[in-house]
Amino acid sequence: MEIIEIYLFVIGCSIGSFINVVIYRLPLNQSIVYPNSSCTECNTKIKWFDNLPIISWFLLRGKCRACKSKISLSYPIVALSTGLLVWLNFYSNPTIYSQLPALIIIIYGTILCSILITLAILDFKYFWLPQAITIGGLIVGISCSLIIDLSNNFGQFSYALYSITASLLGIVLFYLLSYVGFKIFNKPVMGGGDAKLSALIGSWVGIKGLLITIWLAFVSAGIFVILGLLLKKIKRNERIPFGVFLSFSGLIVWYFGNEIFLKLIF
Ligand SMILES: [Zn+2]
Repeated sequence: MEIIEIYLFVIGCSIGSFINVVIYRLPLNQSIVYPNSSCTECNTKIKWFDNLPIISWFLLRGKCRACKSKISLSYPIVALSTGLLVWLNFYSNPTIYSQLPALIIIIYGTILCSILITLAILDFKYFWLPQAITIGGLIVGISCSLIIDLSNNFGQFSYALYSITASLLGIVLFYLLSYVGFKIFNKPVMGGGDAKLSALIGSWVGIKGLLITIWLAFVSAGIFVILGLLLKKIKRNERIPFGVFLSFSGLIVWYFGNEIFLKLIF
């Protein structure tokens, strides 16, 4: 284990703590930067030493120091999961950026992780993919490719063009898919949020990566629905948060690259 892996894990846990703030405050339409966190029950300001990712939850045994009300286990779980997913960037191998220095790939991957984890949780909890994050993530994705172009081969916008094309393809494909879905099921099966999310993912993983992501999302969502029906955990016609499957498929494609999946499909 290299020292940078520990850094990545710690940075990831801190990002996860911030994601906890975002997913709590965004649906309430509160500012995500101000004020500092306070207990949701008694409103007592949380001191910095009670606000350390994961560690504080365990030291406080999952209870507020002031009023002893329970602090959800979801806080340390989100922080820990983000820590692990950010750490995995050390081993990631995204195809479109495979020529770039490892550090750039790690930084880009960390940004993508943060965006996709936030969206996956919001879609899971509220069936909501806020436009501020999908469009924001899309703009960041295109900007990242533009930065590579500007620093490498000035005047030749190959990365940026590829990124933009892939995101346009994401939008078109999803409206096409939801049109076909509507014709088959006679009700909307996917929302506009999914289209923007696939545009976002396209801007990060490129055209091939996007197609693999969508394929993987449908396969995993299909398996999930079939298992859910068999185990009677979900009902027929129950809505599923497709954005969760899209987000994690996008991340998996970013980590593993395209080749391994192309071998699986063909
Ligand atoms: Zn309290």
